[in-house]
Amino acid sequence: MEKKLQVEAIEQGTVIDHIPAGQGIKILRFLQLADANRRLTIGLNLPTHNDQAKDLIKVADTILTEEQANQLALFAPTATVNVIENYTVVRKFQVTQPQAVQGVFKCPNSNCITHTEKVPSNFHVQTSKTGQIKLKCHYCEKSFATSLFDELKDA
Ligand SMILES: [Zn+2]
Repeated sequence: MEKKLQVEAIEQGTVIDHIPAGQGIKILRFLQLADANRRLTIGLNLPTHNDQAKDLIKVADTILTEEQANQLALFAPTATVNVIENYTVVRKFQVTQPQAVQGVFKCPNSNCITHTEKVPSNFHVQTSKTGQIKLKCHYCEKSFATSLFDELKDA
């Protein structure tokens, strides 16, 4: 059988595949993909070869920058990004965890200077011994689990 992506093909755009099930919606919100007039196809809890469900997102006419793609690694370290042109995958890569994330999230610490001073937020990405990804604020030096950042997008 031909190896096929599991939802309708797009002419050009980006397919984010192998997102751990449950993270797809988070990523949509995070990348603010659901706004504007973008055509999106989302697959949730799709079956995989090793019986672990995955989410998949197709965004027509949008190519993620490498920076955006790597920020996905905070939520979906196993995700792969496929760049589609003319119905063909022209580039495929695995996301890489970024060293730092700047100007993306608000600091969850309400006493942090970033809430009163006009400075872009800046977090260092750390991985604990147990493999949990944490973000450490450059300003208040507190560390936070990525799950705390769901609603803290720095607009
Ligand atoms: Zn802070």
